[in-house]
Amino acid sequence: MNNFNYTRAKNIEDAVLSVSQNSDAGFVAGGTNMIDLLKYNLIHVTLLVDVNHITGHQAVTENADGGVRLGAFATNAETAYHPLIEARYPLLSRAILAGASAQIRNMATNGGNLLQRTRCYYFYDPHTPCNKRKPGSGCSAVGGYNRIMSILGTSEDCIAVFPSDMCVALATLDAVVTMQGVDRTRSLPFAEFHRLPGNTPERDNNLQPGEIITSIDLPANGFEKNYSYLKLRDRSSYAFALVSVATGLDLKEGLINEARIALGGVAHKPWRVKGAEDFLAGKPPTPGNFATAAEIIIAGAIGYGHNNFKIELAKRAIVRNCLMALNPESQRPGAHPSL
Ligand SMILES: Cc1cc2nc3c(=O)[nH]c(=O)nc-3n(C[C@H](O)[C@H](O)[C@H](O)COP(=O)(O)OP(=O)(O)OC[C@H]3O[C@@H](n4cnc5c(N)ncnc54)[C@H](O)[C@@H]3O)c2cc1C
Ligand code: SF4
Repeated sequence: MNNFNYTRAKNIEDAVLSVSQNSDAGFVAGGTNMIDLLKYNLIHVTLLVDVNHITGHQAVTENADGGVRLGAFATNAETAYHPLIEARYPLLSRAILAGASAQIRNMATNGGNLLQRTRCYYFYDPHTPCNKRKPGSGCSAVGGYNRIMSILGTSEDCIAVFPSDMCVALATLDAVVTMQGVDRTRSLPFAEFHRLPGNTPERDNNLQPGEIITSIDLPANGFEKNYSYLKLRDRSSYAFALVSVATGLDLKEGLINEARIALGGVAHKPWRVKGAEDFLAGKPPTPGNFATAAEIIIAGAIGYGHNNFKIELAKRAIVRNCLMALNPESQRPGAHPSL
């Protein structure tokens, strides 16, 4: 771990100024990922700017348009257990609670969750080539051990997965991310926030240097009647997703009025395919229609050897999760039907 200076930002302007004036400065929120990155010498900072004492962005509040605003510095636990989120966005609550452990969720913040780095084994091993850690050095996962890696949206430069659970639900809900830089505030639809690796895998998202996330807005429709989050992993707690699916359905007179389906654990960003959602609109919610939607979503998937199993697993998980969304009660622990 390298030596660095530490400062507590008093407000957003103070935080943004400190980081934009020093290219080796970084923010720390809950620290659950940042401190590991520093300890493993994967990143180097000369100044760490603590954003935990900034007031005004730590709450979950209702917006005038009927939606809800998540403060970037609210913790994952505060968000998941907030009465507004439990009642109106249970999909988000379930997704957050499927992640990490209670202790980590008590520390982890909403902004930090969006910006957590991949869990690719080679990224965390500085003795191996990794284009994300050291651009141009190569990718050890292509041709290496790649069981947890992506099957969709990959490039020859990187096949890493973005590991968040919370973000899979945020993608389904069409959330909007707001960020502030030195001279402007801007917002991005969730689908445009994270990036595919392409030939710049060192960039996980479209946040610009010096910008800080201040809030995440949820539109009014939380799909609270018909939703489900399914996380498939090697053990039943405290593990990242091999494949996860978030589904929100709006049903009218026995037909699907609107469907939203996003996948985690399969790509460098939460994966949504509009064509599959359009296919389901106006159709009955049958296993056959969900299976066709799954084929559309997974079209073009590529296995790299050890992760080939994810292709079939993802298709089955989509169908199973869409059926579970018809009966959200089925998400009670122990109530899951087997695959
Ligand atoms: C053992 C373990 C298991 C885990 N399991 C899961 C899991 O199953 N599912 C899951 O989704 N997650 C999991 N996580 C990840 C965890 O959810 C993230 O580490 C956490 O959400 C990051 O939030 P943080 O506030 O601690 O961020 P930090 O670690 O403080 O920061 C992370 C990054 O975000 C930047 N940052 C933080 N806040 C802002 C902001 N507002 N604006 C701009 N930049 C900012 C920091 O500079 C840093 O680059 C796990 C973590 C651990 C350690
Ligand atoms: S998959 Fe991406 S993060 Fe993993 S070794 Fe390759 S370049 Fe690095």
